[in-house]
Amino acid sequence: MADLTITFLGTGTSQGVPMIACDCPVCLSDDPRDKRTRSSIYVETPEAAWVVDTGPEFRLQCLRERVRRMDAVVYTHSHADHALGFDDLRRFCESGRWLPVYAGPETMDDLKRIFCFAFNGENLFPGYVRPDPKVVAPLEPFQIGATTLTPLPLKHGRSHVFGYLLEREGRALAAYVSDCKEAPDEVVERIRGVDVLIVDALRHREHPTHMNIAEALELAARVCPGETWFTHICHELGHAGTEAALPAGVRIAYDGLRLEL
Ligand SMILES: [Zn+2]
Ligand SMILES: [Zn+2]
Ligand SMILES: [Zn+2]
Repeated sequence: MADLTITFLGTGTSQGVPMIACDCPVCLSDDPRDKRTRSSIYVETPEAAWVVDTGPEFRLQCLRERVRRMDAVVYTHSHADHALGFDDLRRFCESGRWLPVYAGPETMDDLKRIFCFAFNGENLFPGYVRPDPKVVAPLEPFQIGATTLTPLPLKHGRSHVFGYLLEREGRALAAYVSDCKEAPDEVVERIRGVDVLIVDALRHREHPTHMNIAEALELAARVCPGETWFTHICHELGHAGTEAALPAGVRIAYDGLRLEL
């Protein structure tokens, strides 16, 4: 088994691809890589497994990828497309197990408000979700098993977002940078030369809170990773055509893609 395996549970933007009631060529595409559920990754190591974000299709993503193990959950932020699958974590809390939930303070407050029934301690029935909240701070590393995760503060409109750097035995294996309009210099410094950069690249046109392809390429040029994978893709980007036009070392992720690091 690889030291760390990343499975893309979802690679789509907030509306998913295809989008409801859209007849554009990408929404009608036969290419399975143009079917994108809401963005999330599942990380497996020899000693622990966890998910980053639980979007609205979390249950379907777990079924599709036959996810059996969940030792923790990590949140980037509380937007609906990243949080609303939370209640399906209940399957991983059977036998009364408490599931560590890592998030920044603003995101944790939102999770506690939206899912108050899970956090208020009043619903301890067997089979209900049992979150064990663990608030994390910008650039302050924490451990899941033998992996060190460092929260990376990102600019994404008015919301507080963390990307995460994943390191093992001092090796910077991957940085997950979704959703984001801008990565501050201190974040770029922290992740420079990472083996794999996974980054928000919504579309070609500019967007107020997400990077477009040009901005994502610019970030990749500053970080100088071994390889770059774009995620959080909208229906304006067909997989095959868009990827063919990207420079060497930059690819577009798709649902079900596995990276073994
Ligand atoms: Zn999003
Ligand atoms: Zn469309
Ligand atoms: Zn967002």
